[in-house]
Amino acid sequence: MKRRTEHTGRFRCPPGVRFIARWLMFVLPVAMAILYVGLLFGGRGEPSATSGAVDDRNVMTVEASTHHRPAIEPPNDFDAPEVRRVTVLAVGDVLLHLPVTQAAWDPKESRYRFEPFFEPVRPILKDGDIVMANMETPVAGASYGYHGYPRFNGPEAIIDALKWAGFNVLTTANNHALDQGPDGASNTRTHIEARGLWTTGIARSAEEAEDVLMIEKNGLKTAILAYTYGTNGIPLPKDRPFLVKQIDPEAMRRDITLARARGADAVVVSLHFGTEYVDEPSADQRNLVYGLIADGADLVIGSHPHVLQPIEHVALDTPGGRREGWVIYSLGNFISDQRGTKRQTGGIFKAVLEKSGMNSVRVASIDFIPTWAELVTSAGRRTYRVIPLEEKDGAADEVERVLEHVFRYVENAGAVMPALRAIGRPCGVAEWSRLCRGGP
Ligand SMILES: [Zn+2]
Repeated sequence: MKRRTEHTGRFRCPPGVRFIARWLMFVLPVAMAILYVGLLFGGRGEPSATSGAVDDRNVMTVEASTHHRPAIEPPNDFDAPEVRRVTVLAVGDVLLHLPVTQAAWDPKESRYRFEPFFEPVRPILKDGDIVMANMETPVAGASYGYHGYPRFNGPEAIIDALKWAGFNVLTTANNHALDQGPDGASNTRTHIEARGLWTTGIARSAEEAEDVLMIEKNGLKTAILAYTYGTNGIPLPKDRPFLVKQIDPEAMRRDITLARARGADAVVVSLHFGTEYVDEPSADQRNLVYGLIADGADLVIGSHPHVLQPIEHVALDTPGGRREGWVIYSLGNFISDQRGTKRQTGGIFKAVLEKSGMNSVRVASIDFIPTWAELVTSAGRRTYRVIPLEEKDGAADEVERVLEHVFRYVENAGAVMPALRAIGRPCGVAEWSRLCRGGP
């Protein structure tokens, strides 16, 4: 019936066949459309030969797929409770002793450049949604002059560098907040906010003091509060008694209640407290922290002793029900010119807050990355670097020692206080340490 044309290599059909073909081209799609609609909406009628073939194919698909599909279908997205997570990272004191500030001076660019100091830890800080530091150095302005201990004042460039490194929250309630006087303190807040970072601890007005810093990330609202034990004997100005937030259990309870009333899913409290150079918390520190957790804090982040103090999981039965939270009593120095193994060792505390559906927030994991603030001298020039402690030469034992110190209460939580209990070992970056290797 079909002849092959020599020139084109295509088939040509005789006229009669072409007529039937055209007729079929019109009728077949219409018939298939009717059949398809029938299958969609009818489905119960006698299957035609074609629909029988479709059914066979479906059966084969189901049979084949039983090898791959679980017997019970996972719940669809509509049924699964939504899980939201926020990662909080926190470091200790940013203390610009004069040698640190001087080392940041870049003679070529005629400006202060602190960025290289933080470059080694920048990749770690990038993991945080909320990345906090205790800004212990006022940034009052160049006209105040730059000073180290005992009345600190640092260049505004330190804020740029901290932001560059990944920090987005600087807490300013600490004993050096008033080093440059009340206006110096107000300026510090202004300079931090001008660079787009969040801050709390110093308040320029009564309204600011009443306000709660609330950070919304990943659908979770986290309130950040900050308080200090004092301001090195420099009194708060009589006309601005609110200028630096002071540790006061009643006031802190009010703030936590306000934060929750404003919809805070989680409450993080920075406390500047404890005894300098003592690597264990005092009974006073503990009582204060337990009170805060009972009142609704989820995380308490301590600083001031200039050395690391341990992490503790706190679980308390309160009249309002069971309350749980985590504390690190002291994060030590993040950067400073203090010398000695314990004073140069700091760390990045990491907590993942998680909220599933309508449940309240829980701390899903805790981790700690020890850091080392080193002084580097090359070609007669001094500079500083904050590095992960494990990158320090011959530091393997030191990392182990630091982690065991920091996590010692987690392991022995039950022995510290009957109301406490350990809820598993934190094994993140610290995975290779003895704590995790020997853990359950
Ligand atoms: Zn301090």
